[in-house]
Amino acid sequence: MQVFGLVGSPVSHSLSPPLHGAAYEELGMDAKYVTFEPDGEDLAPAIEGARALGIRGLNVTIPFKRDALEFCEPDDLTERIGAVNTLDFGGNEITGHNTDAVGVTRALAHHRVSPSGRAVVVGAGGAGRAAAFALADEGTTVEIANRTTERATDLAGEIDGATGHGLDELENLLADADVLVNATSVGMDSDETPVPPEALHSDLAVLDAVYSPIETRLLREAASAGATAIDGGWMLLYQGVAAFERWTGRAAPVDVMNEALRARILSDNGSN
Ligand code: NAP
Repeated sequence: MQVFGLVGSPVSHSLSPPLHGAAYEELGMDAKYVTFEPDGEDLAPAIEGARALGIRGLNVTIPFKRDALEFCEPDDLTERIGAVNTLDFGGNEITGHNTDAVGVTRALAHHRVSPSGRAVVVGAGGAGRAAAFALADEGTTVEIANRTTERATDLAGEIDGATGHGLDELENLLADADVLVNATSVGMDSDETPVPPEALHSDLAVLDAVYSPIETRLLREAASAGATAIDGGWMLLYQGVAAFERWTGRAAPVDVMNEALRARILSDNGSN
């Protein structure tokens, strides 16, 4: 049996087991996806132990995404982002990857959005960093707006051509933007949005990293403005698809994984 897993804390409500489990079932794989919640000081032995036991790969989530960098050889994008969410034990060394970044670009591509002009990323935390570096690598001019302006300008300073701003500049920034990514936690479990609705327009594609609820206020207002609205389930799906494909070398059954993910998000929201 092939074993894959997730390290983080907490992980009990993780959507990764049903996401990956659906792929194993669809492809008839003898495989299992297991969640682990080590203490922080045990991260190194947990990763080494997982590898020694023959676990094929681990996802990494909060609070270990930065610390896990120390225990792997990150790819170039992952090193620049400064956070890893996928460890691959398949080679001679443990390699680290940030599939949240891939999740952003593949979620946009799935909706036939090819970022090329100006992209606005709201948020400068982990998801904001992944989105900003990924969009810059696609060739867009990235504007980063954050509640704490200094964090936005610091992040922008790490990315060629990017500029940092406060949230009060969003309306101006969005006027001639093609892509907006909400990478703040605003809208998660509350009907709030970090973006003034009058700033939204029909030439925008709006990706909300928030996936609970699946339809956020931002996305409702984006759809009303005629924008392309892309929910956080797509980003979550494609970060998992990228990890699955890296670990197994097989094409992921994307539709089946998407169905399983959405069914679980809806049932979790119903039971909360
Ligand atoms: P994080 O590192 O803690 O960053 C949080 C960000 O939200 C910061 O930029 C913070 O601004 C901003 N923020 C928090 N409360 C705010 C408020 N009331 N008003 C304005 N800005 C506020 O978190 P993260 O890991 O980046 O996650 C952010 C969101 O993305 C979460 O909802 C998470 O679930 C989601 N996410 C989704 C995926 C996916 O696959 N769909 C992947 C990763 C994360 P300050 O800097 O000013 O504090």
